[in-house]
Amino acid sequence: MRSLTDLVRFSSEFRASAARMSNQPNLVFIMSDDHAAHAISAYGSRINQTPNLDRIAAAGMRLDSAFCTNSICAPSRAAILTGTYNHVNGVTTLDTHLDNSLWTFPQALQAAGYRTGMIGKWHLGHGRGADPAGFDHWRVLPGQGHYHNPVMLEADGVVVERGGYVTDLITDDTIAFIDGELGPAAQSAHQPFAVFCHHKAPHRSWEPSREHFTMYDDVDIPEPDTFRDDLVGRAEVIQAVKMRMMDLDPIVDLKAVVPDGLSLDEEISWRYQRYIKDYLRVVASIDDNVGRLLDHLEATGLADNTIVVYTSDQGFFLGDHGWFDKRLMYEESLSMPLLIQSPGQIEAGSTNDDIVVNVDFTPTLADLMGVELPTDLVDPVQGRSFAPLLRGEAVDDWPTSMYYRYWMHRDGSHLCPAHYGVRTRTHKLICYYNDPLGQPGAAGPADPIEWELFDLGADPLEINNVIDEPAMMPVRDDLVAELARLQALYGDEPFPGATEVLS
Ligand code: CA
Repeated sequence: MRSLTDLVRFSSEFRASAARMSNQPNLVFIMSDDHAAHAISAYGSRINQTPNLDRIAAAGMRLDSAFCTNSICAPSRAAILTGTYNHVNGVTTLDTHLDNSLWTFPQALQAAGYRTGMIGKWHLGHGRGADPAGFDHWRVLPGQGHYHNPVMLEADGVVVERGGYVTDLITDDTIAFIDGELGPAAQSAHQPFAVFCHHKAPHRSWEPSREHFTMYDDVDIPEPDTFRDDLVGRAEVIQAVKMRMMDLDPIVDLKAVVPDGLSLDEEISWRYQRYIKDYLRVVASIDDNVGRLLDHLEATGLADNTIVVYTSDQGFFLGDHGWFDKRLMYEESLSMPLLIQSPGQIEAGSTNDDIVVNVDFTPTLADLMGVELPTDLVDPVQGRSFAPLLRGEAVDDWPTSMYYRYWMHRDGSHLCPAHYGVRTRTHKLICYYNDPLGQPGAAGPADPIEWELFDLGADPLEINNVIDEPAMMPVRDDLVAELARLQALYGDEPFPGATEVLS
């Protein structure tokens, strides 16, 4: 007679074999929050090692020009799930929730017979009209959630109190969902699964787990090349953003009292060490847990038929230009890490440098999984599948530019300006249109509209704003036209008078 333990194990093995026997590939979509690509060793990090994230790059493809279309949490998540730009899906800011009557990718997965799960950070609202839709089971953090002993929410108002560290717990729950021990079990021997494993880390307040609490105590983390950038020549609104090391709250963000007797330069360096070490400690926990998840897929035989994605909702400034945080269209914030393994479809250890954006993720994954997207959507998917690029195929008409728009104007404590722009493979044009209506409490006149232009080939660190250089006028004019073309293509509106300030 089998013991209860044996039955549980048998049941778990049966469910794993169910997913293994399916022809449709499973999906494990791992997304962290604010994890910059330059803190991943597969991307050549100078400041840390991520051996487990590197396993995905080694088994699949590393994408080197993956960009978000709005570098802030909720809007990027909405763009990924809907395959549309934020002016279409309505999630333009941190405070706009995703209307859960809108179509999202998980609904297509359910329609294709997938068992779907959402575990971890949702950050698109919850409660009436905003609970996650398209999932057979969801267990999410309320809002930002806590690093230690987090409360989590499920459907029907169920509140789950958890003891432990958030990155460990989200991984535990993801594995339990895969095994059919959390949420519904597989309905048949052939039912595949798709699980969205969304980590809170490494979002501020950067609270490490016990295991990583003293990691990096004995080393100095190198400062980035642009750490002392004085921002001269950049737009005035950029010089005014409050994302410098001196803008970090020592008690809340750095969790320490600044030592007496430091010069200003010394204090800036001291703050950087406090900040970056905690950031990298919480990244280390993600890396360990991704390793645990990959090990589980391998041990259960699922790895051969499971697509694994690692990404982050946007990039982050890791002292670059003297900043922390994201929001801006500069490279460190615009870039998303994107590592994808799909056995049999993507060559191991491959890389690609074509421009892809978060709006493309839904059609791409659907393509890899053989899932049909509906053709009668009120808001049709605007992204394009880059699955051919993942398969190593040449695509002659692949886009060579991308459109970006950050809507929040001088919001909260960082005072980042609203802006839009275009990035090509060689240049970047940004318009800070200084929307007075987007400025909380401001009824007065708008600030002057400002533009920036960077030659990414000659100036990859974006130090020299060449918007006024006569030699750059032909490039500038081409990019202004390309920006207008993209806005028309995606149905967004230019800000009134923004282009006219350019002579
Ligand atoms: Ca984020």
